[in-house]
Amino acid sequence: MKVENNKVVSVTYRLNENDENGPFREETKEDNPLVFLFGHGNLIPGFENNLKDLAVNDTFAFTLKPEEAYGEYNEENISDIPSQVFQQDGKMNTELVQVGRILSLQDGEGRVFNGMVKNITDEAVTMDFNHPMAGKTLHFSGKVVEIRDASEEELSHGHVHGPQGHQH
Ligand SMILES: [Zn+2]
Repeated sequence: MKVENNKVVSVTYRLNENDENGPFREETKEDNPLVFLFGHGNLIPGFENNLKDLAVNDTFAFTLKPEEAYGEYNEENISDIPSQVFQQDGKMNTELVQVGRILSLQDGEGRVFNGMVKNITDEAVTMDFNHPMAGKTLHFSGKVVEIRDASEEELSHGHVHGPQGHQH
């Protein structure tokens, strides 16, 4: 069996910024692999493209430019949000709102945006809504540990079910 559309694929990987010797970012091991439904846009396009047609126990190593990964860093994704939005009973929640903290905000239509607090003044909180990996070149290396057919239900939902997937 090979990695292709509609297969559930389990991989271990190590992520470094820039190249294999760049800053270490994250790692998944065999006891807790990344499990995903291939070909349904669940992962960044460059990751899926480089795994296609691999078999179990095949290893991989590749570098993705920002446009194949999390996109370019965009200054327009930085916004000043009025501080009232973060206040409870007229006071800033300083436990929650701290520079460097990732916060989830909801817009008027119920969409959720994650952003990082960059600056706090009395009037506004400056939030950076770029993905933390935006603008970065990423190097992935790892191994395919399992490939199976997706169930009908998984295919209709477009994601993996079971212990390592989403329960919905
Ligand atoms: Zn589901």
